[in-house]
Amino acid sequence: MNERGVYKMTTKFKSRFLLAVSTIAISFSILLSGCSKSPKLGDGTNSPMPGAVTENGGGESSSAPAEPTPTPTKEPLPTIDVQSVKPNEAGKIMVVMFHNFVESFTPTKYDKGEYTTTFSEFEKLLQELYDKGYRLISMTDYLNNNIDVPAGCIPMIFTFDDGTAGQFNLVNENGTLKANIKSAVGIMEKFNEKHPDFGLKGTFYVNLGNGTFEGEGTLEQRLKYLVDKGFEIGNHTYNHINLRDTTSATEIQKQIALNQKTISELIPGYVMTTFSLPYGLPSKDLQSFVKKGSYEGVEYDNQAIMEVGWDPALSPVSKNFNPLSIHRVRSSGINPVDCDLAWWLERLTREEQYVSDGNPETVTIPEGKLENVDQDRLQGKTLITY
Ligand SMILES: [Zn+2]
Repeated sequence: MNERGVYKMTTKFKSRFLLAVSTIAISFSILLSGCSKSPKLGDGTNSPMPGAVTENGGGESSSAPAEPTPTPTKEPLPTIDVQSVKPNEAGKIMVVMFHNFVESFTPTKYDKGEYTTTFSEFEKLLQELYDKGYRLISMTDYLNNNIDVPAGCIPMIFTFDDGTAGQFNLVNENGTLKANIKSAVGIMEKFNEKHPDFGLKGTFYVNLGNGTFEGEGTLEQRLKYLVDKGFEIGNHTYNHINLRDTTSATEIQKQIALNQKTISELIPGYVMTTFSLPYGLPSKDLQSFVKKGSYEGVEYDNQAIMEVGWDPALSPVSKNFNPLSIHRVRSSGINPVDCDLAWWLERLTREEQYVSDGNPETVTIPEGKLENVDQDRLQGKTLITY
């Protein structure tokens, strides 16, 4: 679109860019707190100016109609030195899938521990992710292309399947219910006291017809605790049925609707908007019922479906992004396997990943990656190329 070295902007964005340049001093301190190690911030004259295009494409709308009313003031365009930070908001994002957390584990012939990790390994993992520049975002923000992590950081999403006690359980400490420090949530809370910028986020895919987060407190108190902390709850069927073997559309709808009905009774108004497939997809003719259906007056419409995956997911602005098929990376268990998180952490390059520009209102990508972007997926954000 833009020739090398020539940066074109719409009239509308030119004025916003000038505003941005004038606010560099304000932005400076904010940007320094992030992942862009010693960013060489643009001084507005020497650094390359990113080109901006609107959601409707085209950076050359010279005949733009006069605006009847001034647009509300938005955050300024990024003032980072894009050549130094090299944001790529069309890159891949890892959606990590966790299962079991235990104090100690010895692999056996029957359980090799591929889906199980220890609390101490999880603690080490959080530090490793933090040091490598990963920051947690919620599933909702991912799906809405509302990604807010500092410039140079890489967003990551945590998901937890099955509602196991190792993921989260409450303990009673002198009459107060708290997350057990021997649980993934307890460990995340502790880590966030030291590193609040890491993010205390994740989605728990639960089966409310089975034992869920067993420990102290009622099911209602457990779910409320998570929601109050900012975690999200997703649907994983009421009894963890094997969808692959299911032949009944009614059974699928009953299992998903019952789970939704249960949470809305415990937390009035709470809607599970995303779904994690237990074992896999049912046969083709039944797949639409995983997304949408109803049972005994309870309706559901899942906005995203998590798969038991093996590879990193796509940017929400990617041409191939499909919320109904979100690939997940398996967390590293005690027994490492190919394509688990540790495997990808070694192999996935920074160039392939989503690297943030630090501004949730803009989507900044290298010129060469423009063809990967579907401009209809910007969800109101401003596209910038460099
Ligand atoms: Zn499961």
